[in-house]
Amino acid sequence: MPLLAEIIVDVPTLQTNKPFTYIVPEELEPIITVGMRVVVPFGKGSRKVQGFVVDIKPQKFPMDNGIEWKRISSLMDPLPVLTEELIKLGKDLSHKTFSFQVKMYQTMLPAVLRAKYNKKFIISDEVSEDVLWNVFKGRNEISWDEAEESGKLKQLIELNKEEKVQIEYEVTDKKTSKKVRIVRPLLSFEQYEEVIEDLPSNAKKQKLLVSFLQQLEGKTASIETFKEQSISTQNINTGVDKGWCKIEEKEVYRDPFSDTVFEPTVALDLTAEQSHAFNQINQAIQDKRSEVFLLKGITGSGKTEVYLQAIAEVLDKGLGALMLVPEIALTPQMVHRFKSRFGENVAVLHSGLSEGEKYDEWRKIEKEEAKVVVGARSSIFAPLKNIGIIIIDEEHETTYKQEEFPKYHARDVAIWRGQYHKCPVVLGSATPSLESRARATKQVYTLLELSKRANNQSLPHVRLVDMREEAKTGNHSTFSSLLKEELEKRLALNEQSVLLLNRRGYSSFVLCRDCGFVLECPNCDISQTLHMDTKTMKCHYCGHEEGIPSICPSCTSRSIRYYGTGTQKVEEELQALIPSARIIRMDVDTTRKKGAHERLFHSFEKREADILLGTQMIAKGLDFPNVTLVGVINADTSLGLPDFRSAEKTFQLLTQVSGRSGRGEKKGEVVIQSYNPEHYAIQYAKKHDYDAFYKREMHLRHLSEYSPYYFLIKLSVSHTNEMTAAKKIAEYLEFIKPVLSKQAIVLGPTPRSIARTHNRYHFQVMIKYKREVELEQRLHELLQSTQKEQAKGLYISIDYQPLDFI
Ligand code: ADP
Ligand code: ZN
Ligand code: ZN
Repeated sequence: MPLLAEIIVDVPTLQTNKPFTYIVPEELEPIITVGMRVVVPFGKGSRKVQGFVVDIKPQKFPMDNGIEWKRISSLMDPLPVLTEELIKLGKDLSHKTFSFQVKMYQTMLPAVLRAKYNKKFIISDEVSEDVLWNVFKGRNEISWDEAEESGKLKQLIELNKEEKVQIEYEVTDKKTSKKVRIVRPLLSFEQYEEVIEDLPSNAKKQKLLVSFLQQLEGKTASIETFKEQSISTQNINTGVDKGWCKIEEKEVYRDPFSDTVFEPTVALDLTAEQSHAFNQINQAIQDKRSEVFLLKGITGSGKTEVYLQAIAEVLDKGLGALMLVPEIALTPQMVHRFKSRFGENVAVLHSGLSEGEKYDEWRKIEKEEAKVVVGARSSIFAPLKNIGIIIIDEEHETTYKQEEFPKYHARDVAIWRGQYHKCPVVLGSATPSLESRARATKQVYTLLELSKRANNQSLPHVRLVDMREEAKTGNHSTFSSLLKEELEKRLALNEQSVLLLNRRGYSSFVLCRDCGFVLECPNCDISQTLHMDTKTMKCHYCGHEEGIPSICPSCTSRSIRYYGTGTQKVEEELQALIPSARIIRMDVDTTRKKGAHERLFHSFEKREADILLGTQMIAKGLDFPNVTLVGVINADTSLGLPDFRSAEKTFQLLTQVSGRSGRGEKKGEVVIQSYNPEHYAIQYAKKHDYDAFYKREMHLRHLSEYSPYYFLIKLSVSHTNEMTAAKKIAEYLEFIKPVLSKQAIVLGPTPRSIARTHNRYHFQVMIKYKREVELEQRLHELLQSTQKEQAKGLYISIDYQPLDFI
């Protein structure tokens, strides 16, 4: 009785969620299991493609119904890479997120398993003479391919099951652990300009080298990138002799935690509120109930301590715990607290780890050597086999939704897995998303509240500064007199300050004061951003770069200058305003290097600076007891975005960043500067009044028929030809419309707010609805039937409950 396997294949031009049936060759029968990757022939030409085994079943008469089944060519894994749970999850999720199952499976795996790798068998225990000489040929290891060729595969897999032989994956691409030679430019932009002018006109190669060095803007580049510009190593050596640049070896990136010592900590005595929350969660752990809790606790109320103690209970039962944080690099203190409490039992899936290191952590989890997983969004797929609790900290953060395919939300995955493992899910936040808060009201989630700070300190006092009034008094600086005064006070008291520059939807652009001309990107319909450090204009969408215009290209006026404020400019202004202040600036430029976040935070923690100035990345999760002042330079830049959640996001940001103040013994203060101080998002943030904000915002959402009252689906189409994109989206809408009820609301089709990026034209349609029985099925049909067009350069995306509107 032959075995048949159901396989989800990866055929890029013919994606489908329907599994194909294959015959399992006899020699693979004892080995094959669900969750393995296989190579199978596909289509007329029987080309080889990758697939995932999703089901195996015996079949009595496979050849009877006239179909000729193909046979599996080979196995890619000796052991399954996905558990049965993850196979099932991928299937459900692909449906919910309008994506393909095979993409879900690839997303669940560490990158190493998506890349090429070699497999080998290693002797790990005593083996017989026969095995040693006949299988391993007297060596300690043998490659998978060699084993296959000599027909010893089956025997080796048996030995592996007996734990006499280990299987190891060896990443083919070992770049991450190599040292590479790089070139560092040594001169400034202007100095290179001078060098070029002084070079004889026939020194072509040297000119090429110098202008390339100049373009690097002080950053290093590998020897390879020089070669791509036809600059040889010999040319570079000339540059080294002349003092234009130098050659260095690039440091291999290390695990930022590898040399950190974690002082062990013990459970604290919980406050009354914490105890109440803990008891409720613990009851669900003990009862094995898949209850979802919304832990709404003000900043500093000790949510983390509740997480830690709940996890301790889970570990006591021999189960594992999943802890999600918005972004590991921005929450080094969180990782620290987990490592200090649970030591080696913690696996951290850090975006800064190399692919090999990530794979090592993944394997530790898979082998149940680490039972507490701390990581960002994709860690929700961690291969823990017996989960006792899933926690999502700062559950309102948009980073939990993946903006690329597959567009899943970690919260939905958490709830699915919670049900599968019959364990509680805890969603924690000081400012829960409206969706989650509404579900708690409807008792879909259980609400747990922490209304006091754990140290009994009150929330910081917030003052608003109306920047329009400030301008009237003649102060045109970025800093109001109140903020300046408060900063100086902190300096005198030897206390620290955090300053937020709200960069969301905000950029410094060049504007002509005479005719209003704004320099836009030639490829994308958005303004280019001024970069003072490199003295160029850049497009943040496609990377286009050009010089700063000194004359307006539209009216030839010379009054063309920059508008808006970048972090670097604010830093310069602040330094000039308070010369003695020691400032740390944190933005994309200062944190590009691996480990830079941790280093800067650590330096601030050690009080090596008075002021931490930064963008959104400084707003969350930080706990510095010496910070007694938080300043928000521009509260309202995020209010004007074309996004129905802009008030919610502004409220969350202001509340989060205010919460950084006064966490220690001393009381905290907050100063918020704004051009719209009367806006309700700012007013309620000032009063720390989440409940009032929630009520007001829910009312507005109800009136404007948005989430959480309505579901939303965004269908987008893009193409290099504007007409094609416009025509197609109209066509697709006609295809969908017949299944919609009268209650559904269709918005569009419209060009997206940034209509063109990377030279592609984007159009979108929004469908708002409460209940549409046939819609989901119809959208899947649309995805399926447009495969050919998609292969020819038409992009289609269906986003369920989108968070991104720009
Ligand atoms: P949140 O995550 O809610 O913002 P944290 O968990 O960071 O709050 O707690 C804020 C501070 O209070 C931390 O320094 C923490 O160590 C301390 N803390 C928390 N719970 C207790 C407790 N029960 N007793 C004493 N200190 C506590
Ligand atoms: Zn002009
Ligand atoms: Zn562009």
